[in-house]
Amino acid sequence: MSEKTILVWFRNDLRIHDNEILSEAVRKADKVLPVFIFDPFYFKTSATGALKTGSFRARFLLQSVADLRKNLQAFGAELIIRIGDPAEVLTELAEQYHINEVYHHREVAPDETGISETVEAALWKIKLNLKHFIGHTMYHKEDLPFPIKDIPDSFVTFKKKVERDSTVRPCTVSPDHITTPEITDAGELPTLAELGVPEPVDDPRAVNKFTGGETAALSQLYQYLANNLQNNQGKNRTVQSSHLSPWLALGCISPRQVYWEVVNHQREHQLHSAEPLILELLWRDYFRFMFKKHGQKFFRSEGFNNEAPDVATNQDDLFEHWKTGETGVPYIDAAMHELNATGYISNYSRQAVATYLTKDLQVDWTKGALYFEEKLIDYSPASNWGNWAFLAGVGNDTKSNRYFNAAKPTVQLESKSDFIATWLAGEGADKIPA
Ligand SMILES: Cc1cc2nc3c(=O)[nH]c(=O)nc-3n(C[C@H](O)[C@H](O)[C@H](O)COP(=O)(O)OP(=O)(O)OC[C@H]3O[C@@H](n4cnc5c(N)ncnc54)[C@H](O)[C@@H]3O)c2cc1C
Repeated sequence: MSEKTILVWFRNDLRIHDNEILSEAVRKADKVLPVFIFDPFYFKTSATGALKTGSFRARFLLQSVADLRKNLQAFGAELIIRIGDPAEVLTELAEQYHINEVYHHREVAPDETGISETVEAALWKIKLNLKHFIGHTMYHKEDLPFPIKDIPDSFVTFKKKVERDSTVRPCTVSPDHITTPEITDAGELPTLAELGVPEPVDDPRAVNKFTGGETAALSQLYQYLANNLQNNQGKNRTVQSSHLSPWLALGCISPRQVYWEVVNHQREHQLHSAEPLILELLWRDYFRFMFKKHGQKFFRSEGFNNEAPDVATNQDDLFEHWKTGETGVPYIDAAMHELNATGYISNYSRQAVATYLTKDLQVDWTKGALYFEEKLIDYSPASNWGNWAFLAGVGNDTKSNRYFNAAKPTVQLESKSDFIATWLAGEGADKIPA
């Protein structure tokens, strides 16, 4: 019998651990061909000059792919890297390497599912199957207590039912060794310039130094758990965020692995308090499932309503001031400067600037969401558009909506990063009311 070779198409799952497509391919095939494709669709520039993928995220992606290649090599494998249209690249590789099947993780947002459909159709023409796996959420879709179409739109109800009736599956077992076919042209990692993205300028005030890849993701998680232990031992427990979002967005670490590392850490150290990180991961799952359920509605100005919210007649000018941090509201301006200079702002800052743009300035929320799409290092379609729609009051769950009075000085100063504190003390000092 002839050998079986499976092509593993890496997309937003740039990891070895808990990666079902990889472990399943190793189990089912004699040889595995790991492939990553830089699709020009993600590096285009809009008519207004905005990039689909900004500098910080593009650099993070390059680092993550480089780390994946290094880690695969440690397992005896090699990662093929190409720039091009996935449908064309995958059919060429499939023919060149006599591939029997192609594996990938199913996505939920329309751009991503559109790409998989095109790939599926192209592979079908050469009689190859694109096998879909589910691997981006903490809870597996099949383990939810309801089919996707019946998932409660209210987060509170979703949470209650999932926590009561579902369990998180164990992580998949990583392979011991990966055998790849003989590869003649593995392909070089492109540069940012080749992708058409300018080099990011690192700001010394940046609070977080994000380096892409599974290696850095695991180290960030263990660091978080160690800090968390210290916090638990102190008298005043402080809740800290994990800063794992860029790695989770690209799948350098799976939410399921984070879940089990947290649970095991809690057991080992006999910690009984609820771990906020798990609740946050549930929010992440919720938005992904909502995208699967409702799709395109999240990209419309009117969202789930019949009409879009009213907008100011000078919304274009107001939007420019918001983007460049020149609204005159100290906290908002500081947060926007932090976003532009680093690609990352806290959840609080995201809520504040989004609410300010939509409710106070009355600018179309989709402009803000699109701006975040360019700038965020952790951009993830469901988390970004889902949160924006929610805050703009046009999401699927408008009842849980809260109004953020971000312009209030007391609120501004409560929750500030070091960057924001430095900015307010320096460039923004004259904006703080006496
Ligand atoms: C307007 C707006 C846009 C956002 N856009 C994105 C985005 O593009 N990508 C993204 O990952 N998060 C987004 N978020 C959610 C949240 O702000 C970030 O996930 C969080 O700030 C990341 O920091 P952390 O890793 O320290 O989070 P932690 O508090 O440590 O949470 C752990 C993880 O849970 C997930 N998570 C936390 N909060 C949320 C949430 N509200 N919705 C969905 N997932 C959540 C993230 O993956 C995060 O890494 C957005 C929030 C708002 C209000």
